[in-house]
Amino acid sequence: MGTTAVTSAQSRNCVNASVDEEPTMSGQWYFCLRHAQVEGEDGCKNADRMGPYASQEEAARALTTAQQRTEQWDAADEEWEER
Ligand SMILES: [Zn+2]
Repeated sequence: MGTTAVTSAQSRNCVNASVDEEPTMSGQWYFCLRHAQVEGEDGCKNADRMGPYASQEEAARALTTAQQRTEQWDAADEEWEER
């Protein structure tokens, strides 16, 4: 393991190498509680639906998951924001 720090001033073309942007392009799926269906980013308000999820399948499964933990409805809301 040799992480040699670049101390010399010869390499000046590796300054803007910070790629820290998260890929938040597509992959925003919600499960609408009003219409009981999976919706894309432009749907109902987030307050009326669960998500976002990375895929339609996950969003669809959210309903099943929610039904199993109806008691922890409020608590689960925090878990969904784990990422
Ligand atoms: Zn809706």
